[in-house]
Amino acid sequence: MDNEYLKPLPAPDHLTAPFWDGCKANKLLLQRCKQCSTSQFPPGPLCTKCRSAELEWSEASGKAKVYSWIVVRHPIPADVYKDEVPYVVALVDLDEGPRMSTNIVDCVPESIKDGMPVEVAFKQVSDAITLPLFRPAK
Ligand SMILES: [Zn+2]
Repeated sequence: MDNEYLKPLPAPDHLTAPFWDGCKANKLLLQRCKQCSTSQFPPGPLCTKCRSAELEWSEASGKAKVYSWIVVRHPIPADVYKDEVPYVVALVDLDEGPRMSTNIVDCVPESIKDGMPVEVAFKQVSDAITLPLFRPAK
């Protein structure tokens, strides 16, 4: 782990802390509605489908498919991202339904394809934060 992680980090709040605690334990947790069983991300106070406030945390499979992506080749800000480029920023559709923004890692950017199966790969970046990244499914 890099103790001098200089990139922006998420700031967990009362709605998102369970998600980040899950990542820290290498579990991808999603809110699931007790009324209609819809899984949602990002976390919110109500179900985005039926407006129920009865939500529970449920561990996701960690499996997803690539929906869209870009390859970042010019680091901004240059000082903290210069060793990262090229890197991939992507939207992935989780098997449970929600779409999540992430990075695709452990592959060359040119190998990424629309609909490609990917799986979560947790990366601890500070004592408090572990990021849910995705890599090609094995
Ligand atoms: Zn619902």
